[in-house]
Amino acid sequence: MSDSYDVIVIGAGPAGYAAAIRCAQLGLNTACIDKEIGKDGKPTLGGTCLNWGCIPSKALLDASHKYMEATEHFEELGIKTGKVSMDVKKMIARKDEVVAGLTGGIGGLFKGNGVTQLSGHGKLLAGRKVQYTDHNGKASELAAEHVILAPGSVPVNIPPAPLSGTQIVDSTGALDFDSVPKTLGVIGAGVIGLELGSVWARLGSKVVVLEALDEFLPMADKRIARDAKKVLEGQGLDIRLGARVTGAEATGSGVNVTFDDKDGAQKLTVDRLIVAVGRRPYTEGLLAPDCGVNLDERGYLFVNEYCATDAPKVYAVGDVVRGPMLAHKGSEEGVMVAERIAGHKPMVNYDCIPNVIYTHPEIAWVGKTEEQLKADGEEFNVGTFPFAASGRALAANDTTGMVKVIADAKTDRIIGMHVFGPQASEMIAQAVIGMEFDASAEDFGLTMFAHPTLSEAVREAALGVGGNAIHMMNRKKR
Ligand code: FAD
Ligand code: NAD
Repeated sequence: MSDSYDVIVIGAGPAGYAAAIRCAQLGLNTACIDKEIGKDGKPTLGGTCLNWGCIPSKALLDASHKYMEATEHFEELGIKTGKVSMDVKKMIARKDEVVAGLTGGIGGLFKGNGVTQLSGHGKLLAGRKVQYTDHNGKASELAAEHVILAPGSVPVNIPPAPLSGTQIVDSTGALDFDSVPKTLGVIGAGVIGLELGSVWARLGSKVVVLEALDEFLPMADKRIARDAKKVLEGQGLDIRLGARVTGAEATGSGVNVTFDDKDGAQKLTVDRLIVAVGRRPYTEGLLAPDCGVNLDERGYLFVNEYCATDAPKVYAVGDVVRGPMLAHKGSEEGVMVAERIAGHKPMVNYDCIPNVIYTHPEIAWVGKTEEQLKADGEEFNVGTFPFAASGRALAANDTTGMVKVIADAKTDRIIGMHVFGPQASEMIAQAVIGMEFDASAEDFGLTMFAHPTLSEAVREAALGVGGNAIHMMNRKKR
């Protein structure tokens, strides 16, 4: 192990590993330090996303969706099965295999690109020195021309609901239940609450979601949020808004939860409880007091638009800095910093970050909502198209939801797209590309889409902005 590098990256989640790989590709002598220990007790790469976040949750969402299709919808398609049953342990083991494959893949990419992988803890000292402590406690001091901090985030804990072994758990615990709880409480109707609540509801749990706010998914399009709530309730999620948890106690046989809502103090007993009330930047043990990096008032590492901290040649990327806590946002920042270190001039377009909630149907959006635009006093036109009128959605027996395209009233430039529907996560990329290239709604309308595809709904909604949709009555005639 050398003790001097062009770049040292602390953290090998999607922000840190992307930064490290790009640095090495650009010819910089790069080391990446990560302390994460995987489920198998060995050092792992990929951070929260690959080990305890995006990937394992999607493995369970996809498996549980297939189970729900088999138990509830195959007959509608003329498919008869015997009794469909579930093997939760196998489902979890398969999820772990997917994780192991991908985390191992990052190790391969590090090797292939020449990134030095250091397993253990990294701490930034003054003058771009880094203290590296391996898993045996052996400490050494490394030096770097540039340092990239990518330590990520951890779940928020709330005093009324302290975690307790396997009964009151955070998102990590909820990925590893050994059986399907008969009843499941979820605190927080955010992204994690809805995704992991959906997994266990599909597998048979009776799920109650307690959300402190009075509004459901306030960051999403209002109509889509309303429709999504109804659909998710139809799938067995009992979503209670305005419900603030005041206590939770694990009793061995269950969890006693107390909460306040508009009718006063309430009680609920569930087999297990997931606490999913947000994540916070993780900076414990990361910074020596004289290293020159400052935090903002909310505890994030303070950076400018190019992810530079207050300390010269020290950068921070991913969940630990302002902006949405999303893997792709962190990776973009990591790559931008690597390229700027190498003398290129890229930037991240923070107005063009796609958001997806992987329920079924999926909820996805990019850009502004109608509600935000109205609040900003901006003029805009809207086109919508329901999947109930999509040939492909009908063929697939998957017709819930809609596409909404929002375009600037003067320029017709697309400034937002909101999708509630099957494969919304895939369709939203079209709007992201369009917005990156300043496309107008008319541009989308002039583009040929394969038939029959779900994506045709995007084109029809874009045509609808000007009142020109073919497969719908237009409100506005041209
Ligand atoms: P992390 O992935 O948290 O990685 C940071 C790494 O740094 C960790 O390995 C940590 O151990 C290490 N580290 C920290 N401090 C030190 C130190 N001092 N020394 C050495 N190593 C250190 N996002 C999406 O975009 N799509 C999704 O579908 C999605 N699903 C999610 C589902 C769940 C259940 C959860 C919890 C999150 C999900 N996210 C999703 C969010 C996503 O996981 C994060 O946005 C992403 O992982 C952040 O990447 P990061 O590199 O900033 O940090
Ligand atoms: P979140 O911020 O999405 O939702 C937390 C919810 O909990 C909020 O609605 C909040 O009002 C509610 N809440 C807070 N305190 C409460 C209390 N005491 N009682 C009841 N409700 C309370 O956070 P999350 O779902 O924990 O997810 C954390 C982060 O991980 C998010 O920022 C998200 O971006 C990321 N993530 C992304 C994906 C994805 O991209 N598909 C999936 C999972 C997680």
